[in-house]
Amino acid sequence: MEKRDPSKYLDPRGRNVKILATVGPASRDPEMLRKLLWAGADAFRVNMSHGEHEGHAETIAAIRALEAELNRPIAIFCDLQGPKLRVGKFKDGQAVIRHSGHFTLDRNPEPGDHTRVQLPHPELFGLLEKGQRLLINDGKIQLKVIRADKDEILCSAIVGGVISDRKGVNVPDAEIPIPALTEKDRRDLAFAVEHGADWIGLSFVQRPEDLAEARKLMGGYGALCAKIEKPMAVRRLDEIIDLSDGIMVARGDLGVELNPEEVPPLQKKIVNKSRIAGKPVIVATQMLESMIESPAPTRAEVSDVANAVYDGADAVMLSAETAAGEWPEEAVTIMDRISAQVERDDAYLDRVRFLDTPPDRTTADALAHSCMTIADTVNIAAITVFTGSGSTARRVARERPSVPMLVLTPSLRTARRVALLWGAHAVTTKDIGSFEEMIAKGKRMALRHRFGKAGSKLIALAGVPFGTPGSTNLLHVVTLAGDELEKHEA
Ligand code: PGA
Ligand code: MN
Repeated sequence: MEKRDPSKYLDPRGRNVKILATVGPASRDPEMLRKLLWAGADAFRVNMSHGEHEGHAETIAAIRALEAELNRPIAIFCDLQGPKLRVGKFKDGQAVIRHSGHFTLDRNPEPGDHTRVQLPHPELFGLLEKGQRLLINDGKIQLKVIRADKDEILCSAIVGGVISDRKGVNVPDAEIPIPALTEKDRRDLAFAVEHGADWIGLSFVQRPEDLAEARKLMGGYGALCAKIEKPMAVRRLDEIIDLSDGIMVARGDLGVELNPEEVPPLQKKIVNKSRIAGKPVIVATQMLESMIESPAPTRAEVSDVANAVYDGADAVMLSAETAAGEWPEEAVTIMDRISAQVERDDAYLDRVRFLDTPPDRTTADALAHSCMTIADTVNIAAITVFTGSGSTARRVARERPSVPMLVLTPSLRTARRVALLWGAHAVTTKDIGSFEEMIAKGKRMALRHRFGKAGSKLIALAGVPFGTPGSTNLLHVVTLAGDELEKHEA
């Protein structure tokens, strides 16, 4: 499929599922960010676990500049580290831990080597006991505690390997008394709000209360995504989904804290529950892992991305592939191609809709459901949704309609936020005064952005009076005349 110039049109890119790409040293350069956008990134993740505020501020400014240049709302997802444990740094940036060799974690901030490294988490000293495991770098390295005191944890390497600066540590055998939001998270959250993040990712959520705390600090700004990566969160999934605006299946840490084979069924369960609730759900981590080093993915990775799309996820995520890999642009390109290919499969929508998502007994849901059935019955080019908060768009996306959704909103925040929502493509408009104005504007925008052409039918969905949240009450089917664009833009 030929790529359209994204600076001129809001290109729906031949897919409904979205791509969230993590920014890092390999991609924070504005030229590379532009390439990733062209290749298909819809949203960018700024990972607060790495880097400094100054660098993140530059990244955010660069993304906003591209957003203006390409005239396309982009979601910025600021991911808080949460109480994630990490080792310190190494003299050479990395070291090799020998299989069945000894390795010590200590409180010494000096750079580490093949015998030791700092563990900058005082909570762990005096807490860990003989026989407990420390899993490093997504569980690739496994250490077992031989002896632990208040200054040193001596381990033997059950599985050794290369360990490098600030790699993550999971301690599945111990309960660690760390609050959901660390001091660092509070500073990072304030930074994210100040810099206009559209989504805040909360890591290692364990309890619904964790979300309430973050929500309070956000002060009504931005959307909150709970990352499901702790067994505790899985146990209280319904309550957590209820209190979130979005959900991430954070398979990296989830697969370390649990057995990896427990993750695929959980992925399906979390995606399904999020979809029923109408909350966007992101499938994350190791999706194209081998592309950190290789320009081509493995067959298994291609299947993994494809299956996440078949599961009905709203978005798929790239982590180190775009943040630190050698082939960031290629990774987005491949992800874009896989997603579009799945969505061209006639069986795709049937599979996605295999999940029963009964509408709530509200007018808004009845109309959202009708959009889906009308688009299945009549030849419809697009659904134009007029929304302030984005709630109407979420209820339509929840139905997984067969045609793209053009979201028209006076709120730039809403336009950016729905960049992670399945099938939603947003443009900002001025406030709309009347019904006639709404219809005219919807037709004009659909033509301008090529969501339809002369003779195409559109569904317009809105709530009148305009600007009243939760008032979705109007569904109108219109036909594009073709001279609409000229009439208003001549
Ligand atoms: P992370 O979260 O990349 O911030 O660790 C995702 C995951 O754990 O899968
Ligand atoms: Mn994680």
